[in-house]
Amino acid sequence: MSRAPSTDELSPLMQQYHQLKARYPGAILFFRVGDFYEMFDDDAVKGAQLLNIALTSRDKQRPNPTPLCGVPAVAATGYIAKLIRAGQSVAICEQVEPSPGQTGQKNSPTGLMAREVVRVITPGTILEPELLDPKQSTYVAALAPVGQAIDPSIGIAWADLSTGQGWLSTIRGGRPQEAVTELLRRWSVKEIALPHHLAQQPAWQQALMEFRLVDRPGAEFEPENGRRQLQRHFKVESLAAWDGADEPAALGALGALLHYLEETQKQALSHLRAFRVHRPERYMAIDPATQQHLELTERAATIGKRESAVAGSLLHAIDRTTTAMGGRLLREWLLHPLLDLAGIGHRLDRVDAFCAEDERRAALRELLAKVGDLERIIGRISLHAATARDLIQLKNSIHQTPAIWKLFGEAPPVLRTLIEPWDDLTDLAQWIDAALVEAPPLALKEGGLIKTGYHTELDELHEIGRDGKQWIARMESEERKKTGIDSLKIRYNEPFGYFIEITKPNLSKVPTHYHRKQTMVNAERFITPELKELEGKVLGAEERSCRLEYELYEELRAKVASQASRVQAMADRIAEIDTLAGLAETAVIGRYQRPALSDSLTIKITGGRHPVVEQALGPNRFVPNDLLLNDTDQRLIIITGPNMAGKSTYLRQAAHIVIMAQMGGFVPAQAAEIGLVDGIFTRIGATDDLVGGRSTFMVEMDETATILHRATPRSLVLLDEVGRGTSTYDGVSIAWAVAEHLHRVIGARTLFATHYHELTELTRQHEGIKAFHVAVREWNDEIIFLRTIAEGISDRSYGIQVARLAGLPESVIATAKQVLARLEAQAPPAASSSQTAPDSPQPDLFDDSPLKQLAQELAALDPNNMTPMQALEKLTVLVKAVQNRRIGHEQSNG
Ligand code: ADP
Repeated sequence: MSRAPSTDELSPLMQQYHQLKARYPGAILFFRVGDFYEMFDDDAVKGAQLLNIALTSRDKQRPNPTPLCGVPAVAATGYIAKLIRAGQSVAICEQVEPSPGQTGQKNSPTGLMAREVVRVITPGTILEPELLDPKQSTYVAALAPVGQAIDPSIGIAWADLSTGQGWLSTIRGGRPQEAVTELLRRWSVKEIALPHHLAQQPAWQQALMEFRLVDRPGAEFEPENGRRQLQRHFKVESLAAWDGADEPAALGALGALLHYLEETQKQALSHLRAFRVHRPERYMAIDPATQQHLELTERAATIGKRESAVAGSLLHAIDRTTTAMGGRLLREWLLHPLLDLAGIGHRLDRVDAFCAEDERRAALRELLAKVGDLERIIGRISLHAATARDLIQLKNSIHQTPAIWKLFGEAPPVLRTLIEPWDDLTDLAQWIDAALVEAPPLALKEGGLIKTGYHTELDELHEIGRDGKQWIARMESEERKKTGIDSLKIRYNEPFGYFIEITKPNLSKVPTHYHRKQTMVNAERFITPELKELEGKVLGAEERSCRLEYELYEELRAKVASQASRVQAMADRIAEIDTLAGLAETAVIGRYQRPALSDSLTIKITGGRHPVVEQALGPNRFVPNDLLLNDTDQRLIIITGPNMAGKSTYLRQAAHIVIMAQMGGFVPAQAAEIGLVDGIFTRIGATDDLVGGRSTFMVEMDETATILHRATPRSLVLLDEVGRGTSTYDGVSIAWAVAEHLHRVIGARTLFATHYHELTELTRQHEGIKAFHVAVREWNDEIIFLRTIAEGISDRSYGIQVARLAGLPESVIATAKQVLARLEAQAPPAASSSQTAPDSPQPDLFDDSPLKQLAQELAALDPNNMTPMQALEKLTVLVKAVQNRRIGHEQSNG
């Protein structure tokens, strides 16, 4: 905050603002004034910039005017979305009606409305459907370190407020930052609450750079606090029966998380489900680099961008789920392949059964497509964030459940267990159906929600509202009959409201229960209790009917919310059915086969395809390939072949097939035997990590170090070039040593794609190392990619042919060929790209010194380590040199 003005200087409104703002220093305060949310001071400056709206100021005549900007309340959601996407939090402050007996908050005599922050929206606590990705969870986490240097452990709790799902875990042992990041990435956590001392540590700040960090007081993370919170929240007396009770660190994290969530939501979180304990050792290890390299859930090129793209990822290629819940579960399964044969087999049996039943599957998917996001709908209903339309959507979704159940009637037993037990929730649908109209408005307090016939008083109010005048007329004629005064009139005026007017001559017939109110020249005016009651009804009918509708809605909402756990149980069933049926659909469409899993160390894939590339190329254009890896004669495979031949594709498809198999899906292959893989580790591609301050070579070496630390004999390691970002000799040496270590010391199943043909020498020295290559054919000096993997070494790199494909000018290609021919004639390939120019006798071509210089320059280049731009620039210089020289010759010859 820039300048704290003294309270006397400030208007009551600004005093109120500053009091509230002081409590939410970390959030942009949306301060409700009438139909607008206003932002002041630094919030206004930041808000105006991020939202691209006009920045003005209050009290312009004063020396220090307050910066101000605002957004209309009706359009707030879009603006909030923008701020959240920019990593900000927004505290929503509303004008509130003071509750009876509330002091200090009352609307003051100055006319100042009472205001309160009703919710803080942070990147990890969004509930609005328009701000959420339907097929991705949004987790917020808390980290609690416990214990001293000897046995440190980090407790992690994470929850998705929108779905009510929560998890707990404990990380022990060395490299905690790495393990924590891996876990948080895989669960797509958006925001992390950290105890103050941890939030201040550079190592943690660096490791968690990609997440929004919230610095919280250390005391909130005490395990004892967690225990209390848990007992209060889940109303359990003893924690002994609870799965995570023996984990003090996890309890500390859980306590801090619940605390933080309640603070942002300003209400109890009744829909949060019991937290489940997550044991990372039960799932295949997939470190963040591997998740990225394999493009499991996002295209690598878009990672870190504001709108990263699912399209082009493995998830996108295999996602045939039709509900949001199924989509989220599929993502969870994909990022957490299983390690137990029974669990995998169980899923595969069900996918298999769905594959065999085309009709049932089709009918089922059609029904599922009509089911809304039960999990998030009930979340909003529980957190007072729902509209009546959410309840209608819940009802319409529930209407599908009996038909879904019926479809499983004669299904094979493996499928029937998916619906046992089944609570079809029809009572909830009936409550909603009885109360709410089919198409209610979004606003909850303006009426139009409740059906006629649901509530007598409301019907009466509506009737009065509509027919108020008729009611008065009816009373008038009834009173005339009762009194026998034909001229009796019921009339209305401002101060008195409705009254009965009797002309002077008829005064003798006025009944005794009439109260005289006013005497006129020719008449007198009376009221009766019945008339006043009717008046009250007529006049307040509209206002009261709106209020009553809201009360009835609220009653229904609370009643439905009290059944949250039943709706959540249904959401779980639907998610699982949808995910399995979706995997079957993918399998049938893609002609995938059921993999055979075992605890052997063999991976044998016949006719394997890359699921994403295959889809991109279209039918029958992908060339299938086989793969055999085992723990005896073929543990490490060195793969050579020209650029663009298909090495990376082959490596990635092996990983994809293993992941798909262990998540319980069918695989794009004719047949696949998968000896369980406990972790996939990759070193693929080369990019600078500028933000992280690491050069390409450092990124490569970091990734390689992770692999060598973590891989086991059960792991699958994919190396797509190692040692590129340094000199050739350095590179070959490192690559050689890494391969040997993986083979001899670790014994991991490894695929190693490389341009260093020298590495194939390893096959002569080690039993279990084999060389394969991606076959190409040369035809008329052009290269034809066959895309098949064959045993042996590729004869050469074909770099020049590939360069021609990329469109290098013919003159350059010709020169390059001459240089290559000379180099190959004089030096073994190992030195082919070394820094020094050969000094053996020069062939004719290089006799004159300008060409010699050109040759030296070319020889010193390492195309593998140049960016396309650098290459192009260099090329332009060289081409110019050659062209100038030719011109020089022509001129001198002519
Ligand atoms: P490398 O790693 O050898 O440079 P890539 O694996 O990147 O080559 O493959 C280059 C391109 O070749 C891919 O983008 C894909 O379009 C195509 N490709 C690779 N493998 C196959 C295959 N088996 N069948 C058909 N096309 C393939």
